[in-house]
Parts: sequence; C-alpha cells; structure tokens
Amino acid sequence: MARIAFIGLGNMGSGMAANQVKAGHDVHVFDLNPDAIAALVAKGAQAAASVTEAVTGADAVITMLPAGKHVRGVYEGDEGVLAKVDDHCVIMDCSTIDVESARAVGAAAAEKGIKFVDAPVSGGVAAAEAGTLTFMVGGRDDAFKAAEPFLNAMGKAVIHAGVAGAGQAAKICNNMLLGIHMIGTCEAFNLARKLGLSDQSFFDIASKASGQNWSLTSYCPAPGPVPTAPSNRDYKPGFAVAMMLKDLKLAQDAAKHVDAHTPMGERAESLYEAFDAAGGGGMDFSAMIKFLEGEAGSNS
Ligand code: NAD
Repeated sequence: MARIAFIGLGNMGSGMAANQVKAGHDVHVFDLNPDAIAALVAKGAQAAASVTEAVTGADAVITMLPAGKHVRGVYEGDEGVLAKVDDHCVIMDCSTIDVESARAVGAAAAEKGIKFVDAPVSGGVAAAEAGTLTFMVGGRDDAFKAAEPFLNAMGKAVIHAGVAGAGQAAKICNNMLLGIHMIGTCEAFNLARKLGLSDQSFFDIASKASGQNWSLTSYCPAPGPVPTAPSNRDYKPGFAVAMMLKDLKLAQDAAKHVDAHTPMGERAESLYEAFDAAGGGGMDFSAMIKFLEGEAGSNS
C-alpha cells in the first residue's frame, strides 16, 4: 500500500481517485471545493486541508486540474508540491495543459531530483470511473517506470511517448486530428443528405470505403448507425464542444510556438469557436453536424 496525494477532484479526478482507493492505497485528497473532498472521503479517502497536508510524506502525487495556470500554481512556489515532497516520491500530472507548462514543471522537478511525468488521458468521465483511461506519458524512463503501476490502476493502456512534455504533445496532436476528422465527417453527412442519400446508406458505404475513420464508425455524428454515439441522445456529452475548443487552442498555441503549419487545425479551432460562441459549448462535439447545417441554411 502506498500513500497517495490526489489533487483535483472534478469530473475526471473524482473517479480516478476512487480507483486508487479501490486499488488499496492510502489516498489523501485535496480540492478547492469541500464537497468534492467529502464525496471522496465517503468512498474511503482521507481529507487534506491543503496541498501541503496532502503531499507531505506521499509516495506518489497525482493531479487532475483544469489548465496550465492551475498546475503551475499547485506545483511551484514555497507552498507548492515540488517544495514539499520527499525525494522518493513520483509525481503524475494527468491534466490536459499546454506543452510549455508541462515542460517547465518537468524541468523544475528534474532540478530537484524528483521523478515527474506528464500523463494526460484519452477517455471521458465514464472511462475515469471505470478505470479504462488511456495515458500518454512524457518523462524520463525511471519516472515512467515508477508511475506505471499507479497509472495502471486508473487505465487500460499506459504509453510512454517520450521526454517531459511528450504526453501533452501526443494528446493535443491526437485531439487536433480528432477535431478535423469530426468536422469532415459532419460535412460529408450534410452533403450526402442534400444529395439524397440516407444517413444509414452513406454510413454503410463510407465505413467500408476510404472515408472510414473513428468519428464515423465509433462516434457517428448522424443519429442511428452507431447506437452508443451522443447523436442518439440529443448530443449530450460525451466530449463537450468547450473541451474540444480548449484542446484545439492548445494545439494552435503549440503550432505557433514551434512554427508548424496547421491550416486545418486552425480552421477546426475557428469553427468550434464559432459553435461555442453561438451557445453550443455544452453540447457534444459531434453536434458540429447541426451547427454546419444551420450555417449552410443562413448562407442560402
Ligand atoms: P473539472 O473542472 O471538473 O475539475 C477540476 C478540479 O480541479 C475542480 O474540482 C477544481 O475545484 C479543482 N481545482 C482547481 N484549482 C485547484 C487548486 N489550485 N487546488 C486544488 N483543486 C483545484 O475538470 P475535469 O473535467 O475533471 O478535467 C480535468 C482535466 O482533465 C482538464 O485538464 C481536462 O482538459 C482533462 N480531460 C477532461 C476530460 C473530460 O471528459 N472531462 C477528458 C480528458 C481530459
């Protein structure tokens, strides 16, 4: 049994922390929201009154926070995680944040001789609860090896992507590709409908032809062909438009930083931004099919 500090008990972190309790660890939890702490205590965790109290004496620290500024706030400074943990501790930041912040925290940890990995996840709230997340991990070999057993308790796949920051890099490249092929899939359905094809007929053909992709066959934006897809429950997320927009912005920030040419990623960001501004932020990102239909209507 290890002593684990878990910080950030929101939609994702609450299920992940509960899985560490189920794995038999002594889990000390902290969040700015006292109700989130109380919910984990009811599942067998110990309440901590601060970051310092949670991480003191910990063998492992796991964080699941909204964005880079929250992660830096929790890790850096005199009261931060890096100032408070013992040398043997392994740290895993599972939040989706900008590559630069992940590298900065990784470098500060390395300077102090502390094992740190960035380990963002693929999979939503249901996977966090079920312990079936996929982790994309950046960090030194020794840090990866130390983190792996703890990540295994929360996921079905743990993949070492490279050095510090590589986990975040893999995550935002993957999600940029996802945003692009979802929009392409939505456009294809809308055009197929106008050309007189039924959704099922287009699905049956494209899913066996060269248009085949994950947005089509696992997460179909048109209701019907894939029963588990959010399109069959009024586009309730799932993976919300606001979350996709966050990841597309991180991808564009990273692209600017390293001077990579990503015109489709840029267009995907602007389309999801427009959908968000039109009030769609809380819908599943596959509802882009409805937004594009509406846009086509207003242009005609
Ligand atoms: P969330 O907003 O539900 O939870 C974040 C939690 O962090 C909140 O409970 C908040 O109170 C807490 N927090 C913020 N600042 C804090 C601080 N200084 N100290 C302690 N606690 C603090 O977010 P979420 O949906 O759980 O997402 C967390 C991360 O996971 C994000 O980076 C997100 O992009 C990523 N992610 C989310 C999903 C998803 O489907 N929700 C999927 C993959 C990745």
